[in-house]
Amino acid sequence: MVSVRQLLAAAVDLPGDSARLESEVLLCHCLGKPRSYLYGWPEAEVEPGQSQRYLELLRARRQGRPLAHLTGEREFWSLSLQVNEHTLIPRPDTETLVQWALELPLPERATVADLGTGSGAIALALATERPGWEVLALDYSAEALQVAGSNAAQLQLHNVTLLRCNWLAGLAGEQFDLLVSNPPYIASGDVHLSEGDLRFEPASALRAGVDGLDALRIIVAQAPAALRAGGWLLLEHGYDQAEAVQTLLRDAGFEAVTSRVDLAGQVRASGGQCRAH
Ligand code: GLN
Repeated sequence: MVSVRQLLAAAVDLPGDSARLESEVLLCHCLGKPRSYLYGWPEAEVEPGQSQRYLELLRARRQGRPLAHLTGEREFWSLSLQVNEHTLIPRPDTETLVQWALELPLPERATVADLGTGSGAIALALATERPGWEVLALDYSAEALQVAGSNAAQLQLHNVTLLRCNWLAGLAGEQFDLLVSNPPYIASGDVHLSEGDLRFEPASALRAGVDGLDALRIIVAQAPAALRAGGWLLLEHGYDQAEAVQTLLRDAGFEAVTSRVDLAGQVRASGGQCRAH
């Protein structure tokens, strides 16, 4: 049998600069133990079935499969979320949008919709932080809604409702205090689509036409009719799209249009307030 130490040493050739961390995450996943175990028991012998599974995951990782797909989970806003190939893998960049939403002066019982919820990351973070809010998590993908639904159940959240729809189409008459979205915003010809995790994520969650703004345009056009006067629309977008998104928002009549920077220093989200109808 091989030891914890030997198995971790077998991962030095993982791609990227987080080889050690990734090997620890994968080994913990196979052992069903916390990372402290690896440090406390480096000489512990690992069952053949578990070490074999770990070596298979290392192989898949070397071939580029996202770490989150190999473990089936990713942490977002300190919630452990299930993910699979049907959803975007939640990114820390998106916590900027959550933080912003929580800072808005909204009513205690606000109604909120997350457009293109994917794994449910934004909707579930908001529902956790604001138990009084009624959060609608929308997605066009039935498979994604299944993932979001199982995350909502796991977190025992009762203020989240899932609904299959194409952005806001079919929601006529509904009025929200806040709309949030991390829509697809990558230009269809962008070279990044053939690199890293993006190769394994659904195109429908990433690509948005030649300039990457197709989904953002639809959302900004549909949003005013679905917002109460004074309601907010917050959108994540690409690092170089803030100006274009701010223009879309102003042209659609939004006020107090501003942008926010993510943890990596990129201007990552823009939003505005719906004026009185
Ligand atoms: N932030 C992701 C990336 O550039 C893209 C997410 C999206 O298109 N919504 O890797």
